[in-house]
Amino acid sequence: MHYRTLDLAVMPEMPEIRAHAERLDGAVAGKTLTEFKIHKIPSLKTYDPQPKDLEGQVCNSVSARGKLLILDFDEVNVVIHLMQAGRLKIVDTDKAKKTKPALAHLKFETEEPAGLLFTEAGTERKAGIWLYSADPEQLPPLNKLGPDVDTLSLEEFSKILAAQKGRIHGVLRKQGLLAGLGRMLTNEILHKAKLSPFSNASKLSESEVKALHRSINKVVVTATAHEQTLDEIGSAKDRPSLVHNRIGEQCTTCEDDRVRSVEYNAYTVAYCATCQTGGKVLADNTTSKFLK
Ligand SMILES: [Zn+2]
Repeated sequence: MHYRTLDLAVMPEMPEIRAHAERLDGAVAGKTLTEFKIHKIPSLKTYDPQPKDLEGQVCNSVSARGKLLILDFDEVNVVIHLMQAGRLKIVDTDKAKKTKPALAHLKFETEEPAGLLFTEAGTERKAGIWLYSADPEQLPPLNKLGPDVDTLSLEEFSKILAAQKGRIHGVLRKQGLLAGLGRMLTNEILHKAKLSPFSNASKLSESEVKALHRSINKVVVTATAHEQTLDEIGSAKDRPSLVHNRIGEQCTTCEDDRVRSVEYNAYTVAYCATCQTGGKVLADNTTSKFLK
């Protein structure tokens, strides 16, 4: 069951990043940065300002935007995208010196443990850091993001969907349109809204859009609350789910069907046919599976 392994490595989504931003904010907000070193040069995506220019500046806050982290300093903003396997760990300052195999480390002047170690597991090298002295919202990668998906009114959300002819499962994950959701939350949100992952976004009825809008907010709140109970970004397999990572299990919503999947190269669409598609089994040009 290779797809399960792939899904376990799923990228942190907005709730995980928001909860982690809160942890980081608690650890370093108000503290002075004393050392900022990049160890893997390609992970730094900008040339000016340089990391050393931040040394001596105070970190005002750490926040989240979509799936990205923003560390706000007096004159510079640090934008970090963890992608799938990147992590920004809070470590004691001595450990922050042990840099191998980290991408970067930051040390703050404080009595408490407040070093940050930026690491990336695996070999993909996709995680990145951007340093900006201007408003980061106007520059990449933030200027390519749509609004955070749970900040939209029903009217704003309806308007965005009405212009999209693609399948709703793909539309909800387009970060340039709606920021924050990945594969896991999209599976959960569509299940909660009782919508087929293959529905055409522009053809959803008013009541379907309303159910989807409500379901996004509920699922994001639940996922964030779970993540806030942890000390580090949690593993995908431990996140609350009704269909994601539950292929073949009995659907706990209808208690009348098993969770099915449509598999793609890098991910799985998980759904319950009874709850979401009027019993229709979805198939694509890839294999559709129903495990017992
Ligand atoms: Zn069901």
